[in-house]
Amino acid sequence: MPGENGWLAVFRTLQEAFGPQEWWPAQSPFEVMVGAILTQNTAWRNVEKAIANLRAADILSVAAILTLPEGDLAELLRPSGFYRIKTGRLLALCRFLTARGVDAAPEQLARQAAVPALRRDLLAVHGVGEETADSILLYALDLPVMVVDAYTRRIGSRLGLLEDHLSYIEVQAAIEAELEPGDVAVRNALHALLVSLGKDYCRPRPRCNTCPLNMRCAYAAGQQCRPRQPEQP
Ligand code: SF4
Repeated sequence: MPGENGWLAVFRTLQEAFGPQEWWPAQSPFEVMVGAILTQNTAWRNVEKAIANLRAADILSVAAILTLPEGDLAELLRPSGFYRIKTGRLLALCRFLTARGVDAAPEQLARQAAVPALRRDLLAVHGVGEETADSILLYALDLPVMVVDAYTRRIGSRLGLLEDHLSYIEVQAAIEAELEPGDVAVRNALHALLVSLGKDYCRPRPRCNTCPLNMRCAYAAGQQCRPRQPEQP
């Protein structure tokens, strides 16, 4: 039964081990959207620097970003890496929000259509891929959509819950199948917990001996890992 050994069990174990994650780290839904664009292909600490620049310049709004000269915006986004590309992508998102009439309150986008239509429309915005679209749907719009990333794939594969070479949608569907359809909180926390596990334990060279999932992990069983041990100080 999936709930006993699958993603819900992973969720419960990680929640007990790591506690509340309180994602997404942002002060507004629009800031979540900005972060979802800027975090593409870079570490979060670089995103934080770029967002701090936007905040210091007092332009963390759709209207303010669209009135800023593009070169000035690019300079503010420089710490996030690939900053010229991301400048174009952020401007495209801001134009999309303006065209939808939600520039003053981007979270209102959630009221305009059902999730599949919103997802389709976001994916049509320049530079918005599946992970970015789903991050916006879940963390900015508070909609029940599971986000898939490289950590999800690596952890799922090692646990024996995901076959390799599945598409994004197939991975997402496999996880969604075990979750209550409207449960935003579990999706919010599960993705955050998987990111935490992927950063601290299930790294390219995994730290299975101290991983909270090592008693239910196919990879760890194959490596004949010892039962979970406390971290050495
Ligand atoms: S036990 Fe090892 S391989 Fe399995 S999830 Fe934990 S760190 Fe990853």
